[in-house]
Amino acid sequence: MEKTTLLRQRFDGVSLVDGFAKAQALVLRPLEQYVPEHTNHPETEQERFREACSSLQDELNQILNTKIADEQKALLQTTLMLLMDRGWNRQIVQIINQGVTAETAVHQATEQIVDRIGQIEDVYLRERLNDFKDLAMRVLHTLERLNKSGTKLQKLPNKVILVAKSLGPAELLDYDLSKIKGIVLAEGSQTMHVTIVARAYGIPLLGGIDDVCQHIKSGDLLILDCQNGRLYQNPSDDVIDEVNHLQERDRKRTQLENKNKETPSLTLDGEKIELGVNLGLADDLLLANAPNFDKVGLYRTELPFMLAKALPTCAEQVKTYQKVLAHAKGKPVIFRTLDIGSDKVLPYVHHQVEENPAMGWRSTRMTLDRRSLLRTQLRALIRAVDGRPLWVMFPMIAEVGEFLASKKTLELELKNAEKRGETLPSEVHVGSMLEIPSLIFGLKSFIHLFDFISVGTNDLMQFMFAADRSNLNASARYDTLNVSFLKALNYIQQVCRTAHVPCSVCGEMAGRPIEALALIGLGYTSLSMNPRSLLRVKTALRGIDKVEFQNYLERLLKTEHLSVRTQLQSYLRDHGVLF
Ligand code: PEP
Ligand code: MG
Repeated sequence: MEKTTLLRQRFDGVSLVDGFAKAQALVLRPLEQYVPEHTNHPETEQERFREACSSLQDELNQILNTKIADEQKALLQTTLMLLMDRGWNRQIVQIINQGVTAETAVHQATEQIVDRIGQIEDVYLRERLNDFKDLAMRVLHTLERLNKSGTKLQKLPNKVILVAKSLGPAELLDYDLSKIKGIVLAEGSQTMHVTIVARAYGIPLLGGIDDVCQHIKSGDLLILDCQNGRLYQNPSDDVIDEVNHLQERDRKRTQLENKNKETPSLTLDGEKIELGVNLGLADDLLLANAPNFDKVGLYRTELPFMLAKALPTCAEQVKTYQKVLAHAKGKPVIFRTLDIGSDKVLPYVHHQVEENPAMGWRSTRMTLDRRSLLRTQLRALIRAVDGRPLWVMFPMIAEVGEFLASKKTLELELKNAEKRGETLPSEVHVGSMLEIPSLIFGLKSFIHLFDFISVGTNDLMQFMFAADRSNLNASARYDTLNVSFLKALNYIQQVCRTAHVPCSVCGEMAGRPIEALALIGLGYTSLSMNPRSLLRVKTALRGIDKVEFQNYLERLLKTEHLSVRTQLQSYLRDHGVLF
């Protein structure tokens, strides 16, 4: 018999990371959504609070005992330490004794801490503030799983689907990722960094479901079908069967793609396409089952910075970069200098609140103004490569002067390293991201200044279309296969090719088969993507005749289509290309 109290609903959202999942919901309610609740049973609430803390302690210890990235370990250890802080525990019990629930007490205690130290300009205290907020969220989420009337805690199931308004990329790593089978967000977009991290870990993600935290309760059974952009709450057996069937089809496709693990990345007419990987977080885990790759086309150095509790020292950075180089096993690693700002914030670096942070004081603008940040990082990179080739790339270059100033800083650090008698890199390659449209039309005049170019289509799209990449309402309106956009990409490729400057694409579109093929059709022969997309892209490109496809795309670009997606889809389907 079905329980009549079960609320069955289907929600339509936007699929941000493909895949399927079936698991219980774990709702991460934002702090501001907790409304004060009173109680006449403070003892029960005290017990619920203690139970939540002890369960959280067990969970954290369990995660710490599994194979996780060092950065994640440090975060969890701090949370564990604070959880046992007597002052904090005492404060919460005192608030509960005034007649409120455990949730309200945790919330109020956090607000008091925020009020007390939030205004202080002390980096150390600000770090602690974020740690406390983090801890409060975790305790609140554990309390979610406690029976309201008692202290019976449901253990965190082995499989959960996280449901939240939005999530930062580092927040995601608070969890044992092996248990996270899917993510549902009220916000989210294709190129937001939490999406990029979820994609790298192969966690299906559905975004754009308004008020999702109000509709779903922790413990609800959810089915996530990111192929069709759907979320089912307490699904019927029919829905479960249908999704199982889709999942099976997907599994078969993956099996076929796995056959290409060792095959070369050649098109049917023999053109080699260089396939790189994008890294930055827990690279050893990501590369554990990765297929062959030609290079690390983008190493986002800001990601380990985001997980650190304080600004990493030069020696700490050296260690991080050495690890990546070891994972790359002699293949080139393109280190992109700090690209902080927008949705990538460092809790320990003071930031002015800006109206438009994506277009604000960020990335290379910031590292040029705070030159010691850049110098320390470059010094660490020189030391880390230790006589091997060094590849450095500067992000968010809006005008060539910013590139030259950054490059000069690198040259200065190379000179200093020489003076100190350090081993210098055997080769130095200095390149730029091309992700701000202002760089495009002058490119011909100064292309000779770059050793290589990497096109960041995530930001290029955002700025060309004036559409915030983290705002689904804006970004989802425009297609990356828009003809104007493709023509801009074609122009960049032609300028680079004529000048013999290597040029690749490292934005998310390079990891989506149809888009990747379009880029190949535009003449790109080097793509860098998250390791999980590599086999799918390789399988697709092995099915096309490049010259024939290129001619077809060229003809299409002369027509009046707004986007060429439908035409490319039909062409590829007709040619039996898997995607
Ligand atoms: C891009 O903008 O396309 C890019 C690769 O960089 P990020 O996503 O880190 O901004
Ligand atoms: Mg970018």
